[in-house]
Amino acid sequence: MPEGDSVFRLAARLRAVDGALVARGELRGGGAAGRSLAGRRVLEHATHGKHLLTRFDDGTTLHTHMRMQGSWTTTRPGRRPPVEVVRRARVRLGLEDGRTVWGVDLPVVDLVDTADEHSVVGHLGPDLLHDDFDAAEAARRLLADPDATVRTALLDQRNVAGLGNLWVNELGFVRGLHPDRPIGTVDVPGLVASARRMLVRSATVPDAYQVTTGSLRRGERHWVVGRAGRPCLRCGTSVVGRDAVEVVGSAPRRTWWCPRCQPRDALGAPEH
Ligand SMILES: [Zn+2]
Repeated sequence: MPEGDSVFRLAARLRAVDGALVARGELRGGGAAGRSLAGRRVLEHATHGKHLLTRFDDGTTLHTHMRMQGSWTTTRPGRRPPVEVVRRARVRLGLEDGRTVWGVDLPVVDLVDTADEHSVVGHLGPDLLHDDFDAAEAARRLLADPDATVRTALLDQRNVAGLGNLWVNELGFVRGLHPDRPIGTVDVPGLVASARRMLVRSATVPDAYQVTTGSLRRGERHWVVGRAGRPCLRCGTSVVGRDAVEVVGSAPRRTWWCPRCQPRDALGAPEH
């Protein structure tokens, strides 16, 4: 699932086109659909949480978000992309050297002035993957509503940016926290430190992408995610799964936890 580490890795991959001139291309989605991108040079790619910022040399920034379904692909010179890619593309960047970058099924596509990027990412909390990540500010925001559950607080990108459903579930296990524990009863600085350590590892270490257990074996890459009804990898208790609609109008999102390793009323189990 696309989370902060996914977008961080995507930006690293897309940096292969930094410096290239867009010979033809346009936006095919969002409020600026139809707008040509030709004549701009790609300066750089940046990220904030799950948001991707593609900056051009004319002082504009392409802001995109993949949510659950989006993806990016690059086709080599002379290669035709699959018909589905063309049909579902929301961004096309045809480069002078013949490569084409396709942003597919992107639900969020905006072109903003680079000086106004704060209008699209300014509401976000500190980014766990930025070098200057402000852990104290993230903790302060997470504790602003101490009655919110650990799960709700961590998923809210205005508190801390970069965690999606996979990481929130896995962090709950690693920290021994039931997903419904109020955030105000938790060691939040410790939780933030774990989140940063795990996300940085996933984003930057080869073969570690979204592997939380350290095991690359099929079915053992995650402590709890995707393991409902199966034995906890630590204690053998059956992992619990729960579906709930957490945002009105969105698809149900699944929560997983081990009832023994993540008891509801424990007072902050130490990190294992
Ligand atoms: Zn367990």
